[in-house]
Amino acid sequence: MQFEVIATCNTTRARVCRMKLTHGVTMLPTFMPVATQAAIKGLTPEQVESLGITLILNNTYHLNLRPGIKILDEAGGAHNFQGWNRNLLTDSGGFQLVSLSKFTKITEEGALFSSPFTGEPTMLTPEESISIQHSIGADIIMQLDDVVSSLTVGPRVAEAMERSVRWLDRCIEQHERSGQRDRQNLFAIVQGGLDAELRDRCLQAMIARKDHVAGYAIGGLSGGEEKDVFWRIIKQCAEQLPADRPRYAMGVGFAEDLLVCVALGVDMADCVFPTRTARFGVALTFKGPLNLRLRKHAESIEPIDENCPCPTCSSRTSRAMLHHIVTIETAGAHAVTQHNLVFQAQVIGRARDAIMEGRFPDYLRTFFENYFGDHGYPEWCVDALRSVGVDLLEGRDLPLIPGSGAKWEYSDVA
Ligand SMILES: [Zn+2]
Repeated sequence: MQFEVIATCNTTRARVCRMKLTHGVTMLPTFMPVATQAAIKGLTPEQVESLGITLILNNTYHLNLRPGIKILDEAGGAHNFQGWNRNLLTDSGGFQLVSLSKFTKITEEGALFSSPFTGEPTMLTPEESISIQHSIGADIIMQLDDVVSSLTVGPRVAEAMERSVRWLDRCIEQHERSGQRDRQNLFAIVQGGLDAELRDRCLQAMIARKDHVAGYAIGGLSGGEEKDVFWRIIKQCAEQLPADRPRYAMGVGFAEDLLVCVALGVDMADCVFPTRTARFGVALTFKGPLNLRLRKHAESIEPIDENCPCPTCSSRTSRAMLHHIVTIETAGAHAVTQHNLVFQAQVIGRARDAIMEGRFPDYLRTFFENYFGDHGYPEWCVDALRSVGVDLLEGRDLPLIPGSGAKWEYSDVA
């Protein structure tokens, strides 16, 4: 990996970086769409690439079960298998294993789970996770970590954090033995739950292994924890992680969350939200989400967004047409998915431009003004951005919405 910081914001901790991987350059910050089963639901790889997307995510757990390593090896890796020529990141399989398998037992050796197809007890070790990811051939591969829900408290959180450090060492050893280090880049995953002290300890241990890892992820968040705790942990991690390594916040996808994370120093994020919500008929726009299933769109001949360059909007597909087919015809899912991915790319692309041009704080203020209008801003976003020198309100008298703050938006539409 070639990694270069190109510009930094004078106010916040945001930055623009150039990351060159085996399958080309990806400019950071970036949002990575999720192709769980080696396919972005509803789109062909050519369509995804034509939207300007240069880095997507596949799930190791799913690809290991189906089609399996034998087929992937025969195909020459997941890039060939799915016809994707740009960069690819795989998770380690740990998260799905814990969230999807009814039976999972974590031991020091690895995670013991029952195969969802055969019911057979199966062990996923750190070494195996890495060698599966070698067969997949992703440009960025993730360490196997001991994942606990962000709502877990007590000694289990410390145990999982410490085990994640030990498993990182085993992943490093497996990776360095393989000779894949020139083509594939291993990321460590910082754990420690919502406990600042555990996070510090994990950061210290993982930063000490910097020469052996290409980048760092912040894991164990976006699991229903308080947003006020979420941003503080992101900030704490992003502040300490080395400047010459990319920083990846796992499971972050709402536009306001993305921008706050970027302001706190995050370079990469992924989430199924934009593509999943598209299939439920929700189009994301700079004026907030639009639920196309609602009757009020049935007679509108306007596109989702006049100014959007996506194929759906530039061909002026009407809201009425989308209302007519969305969640009923697969073409509706295609149309809204393309739009939502372009929206995500624009939110983050405009952030990159603003950082380069020294006007990122203004971009944040304008984005929030357009997106939330007079409904008021999520309080946690205001607090998080104030902590890096940006006052979203700046003399304006707006209500602050406590809690996640986004609920009024996304629960109405999703
Ligand atoms: Zn569009």
